[in-house]
Order: sequence, then structure tokens, then C-alpha cells
Amino acid sequence: MSLKGIRKAVLQVDPYVPGKTTEEVMCEKGLKNVIKLGSNENPYGPFPNALKAMTEELSRLNTYPDVSFKEIKRAIADLSGLGSENVCISHGAEGMLQTIGKTFLDPGDEVIIPSSTYGLYREISKLMGARVIEVPMKGEHYIDLHGCLKVLSERTKLIWLNNPNNPTGTVFDREGIQGIFREMPSHSWVILDEAYGEFTDPSFLTDTASFIREGKNVISVRTFSKAFGLAGARIGYCLCSKELSVVIDTVSEPFNANRIGIAGALATLKDDREEYLKALSGIRKERERLIHGFENLGLRPVRSHANFVFVETGFNGAILADMMLDKGVIVRPCNGWDYPSSLRITVGTPRENEIMLLVLSETLEDLRKEVSH
Ligand code: PMP
Repeated sequence: MSLKGIRKAVLQVDPYVPGKTTEEVMCEKGLKNVIKLGSNENPYGPFPNALKAMTEELSRLNTYPDVSFKEIKRAIADLSGLGSENVCISHGAEGMLQTIGKTFLDPGDEVIIPSSTYGLYREISKLMGARVIEVPMKGEHYIDLHGCLKVLSERTKLIWLNNPNNPTGTVFDREGIQGIFREMPSHSWVILDEAYGEFTDPSFLTDTASFIREGKNVISVRTFSKAFGLAGARIGYCLCSKELSVVIDTVSEPFNANRIGIAGALATLKDDREEYLKALSGIRKERERLIHGFENLGLRPVRSHANFVFVETGFNGAILADMMLDKGVIVRPCNGWDYPSSLRITVGTPRENEIMLLVLSETLEDLRKEVSH
């Protein structure tokens, strides 16, 4: 790089590779209809009252939002069973992950990260000059908490855990986390990214609120982008101890969520419960249909607890995804996560899923024909 003066740590950070947008694919491929199942969005959002509240909020955009986020913190507290003082707001969960990095990481600190998980943990840690200790997955697709335990050291500052895990959709066992709490030094923190937690049967999730009440060093990171259907409004939050929330709010930039996002999130929680539950049950039902659909095509899906399904295809995932893109279906190849023959496919509406399965089936047939020639 020819620019001078950039921090050394910044030069180590890899740019985030987002899923393709519908507009990009329409333009690149000259297609009129594109189905986007590559970014784990919720096809049913924004819900009607949220849409109304966000539209009404437009006329107030000349003024800053409430810097203390009083109302939205109260609504999230009611949802989680904790108090408002246990909630911090952010610009998407991504903003909270960045703030957590800034809050805890000094150069030379160690962070523990499972080898195939959400990529931002690694880049944020590198940006702060921390040393990344990678823990291989267990049985290919599962976060290995015992493996994390084995690499704990006095230098461990953060243990980044995603439950359910992106891209595999798996959850880890609830008891394993207790071992980490028992063994980790008092200055280590478990970051539980539960961005997809609402799609999971609660019996598979850890009871993060009770860990916080017990005074464990844990932060739960959550978002309105997935189950609540507000990815474009960019609002996320965390749950943590009262003491830590003061620190996190201090490190966050002021006004780090916007009026539209706050209005949408509030209305979703207060007035869109019915629509939200309907969307959740629709997604869960379709998730099962996708799993069966993949099995019927001779593929190996992994049991998912999120709004996407990870599937082993036996072909190069990047090539397969590219061929599907030509037919107007965006899915996510998992080559970058070291799964060269897998796809991560978001659960869409029944119609979107139907078309995706059809396109996948045709594409696999084309590839099988190529192999047999
Ligand atoms: N965590 C995980 C595991 C994710 O997959 C994502 C987004 N795909 C995020 C956090 C960030 O979500 P957002 O910033 O949209 O809230």
C-alpha cells in the first residue's frame, strides 16, 4: 500500500466480504427477478407497525435521538427479564462487537475464536492488535468448547462464541460454557453472539440472563436485523452487568443508533408481536422443508437452529453458487470458512424456497452431467 501513516494493525485486517445485493445481481446478470438467500435476512420484515412508526419518525430526522435510549432499553429489558441498566444499544450487532473490541483489547492480548464462525470477531481482534488463537471445529460443524477450554491462558481476554453459529447453524452444549466460566482468568470475558438466538428453541440456548445475574463475565450480543426483520435499520444491543454497561456506553460513540432504527425496534417489540411470531414459525417450518429438500437432492444438510441451512453438496461451493447466481438465486458459498463444498442458504418464503430448490436441483444435474462426461 502506498498510503503512509496507517496503523500496522489496520494493514492486517481483511475487508468484510458481504453477500451480493439483489440490485448488483440484476445489473450484472441482466435479470429481472432475483431471489436473495445469501445474507440471512427476514423476508417478512419490517412488520406493519414498525413500518408505520419508522415512516412517522422521518419528520423528526432533523433532531438527534435520545442519547440515553431510555424507551428502547426499557422495552429490551422487558423482553430479556433484566433491567434497563443491563442493556446497551448499538448500530447493529456489528457496532456492539466493535465496541466490545475497543473496550477490552490491548495489543498482545489473546482472543479465542472457533475456526469456522462469523468473520468479524477475527478482524476486530486483529484491528485492536490482539493475537488470535483459533480452535478447530468439533465434528466439522460444531464449536468445540472443550477445545476453547484447553487454550485458555493468563493472556486470554475474550472468547468469541456464536450461538447458533454462522455459517453452520449449530448450537453448543449448555453445560460446556460453565467449564469455561470456571476455568477462565478473572479478566477474561465470554462474548456470546446470539444474533440468531430467536430462531432457536430456548432449550438449546444458554440462559445468558441468569449468568449475568450471577455476575459471570459474559456479554450477550443481539440484533434486530434477523428475527425482527430490520437489517437495513441497523440496530443491535447487548445484555451485560450494570457496571459493564456504563463502560460500554462510554466507549460507544454517542447517538450510535438512529431514530428510524429505534422507532422500528420499539414498535416491533410493542405492537408487532403477532406478526413476529407468525414470521418465526413460518421460518422454522420452512427450515425443516429445506432440510428435507436438500436430503431429497442427495445432499447433506446440517441440523440448523438459525434462519439459514448449511449444506454439504459434494461440489465446489463457489462454482455451484455462481451457477445459481446466473439463474437469479443468491446463496452463500462457504469456501472462505474452509468448507469448499458447502453452501449456506437463508430460509426464504415458501415460494422463494421452492424456486431455490428447483434451481439447485437443475444446477446439480448440470454439474453431475459435466462430471460424468
Ligand atoms: N453476528 C452474526 C453471527 C452475524 O451473522 C451478523 C450479521 N450477519 C452480525 C452479528 C451482525 O448483524 P447486524 O450488524 O446486522 O446486527
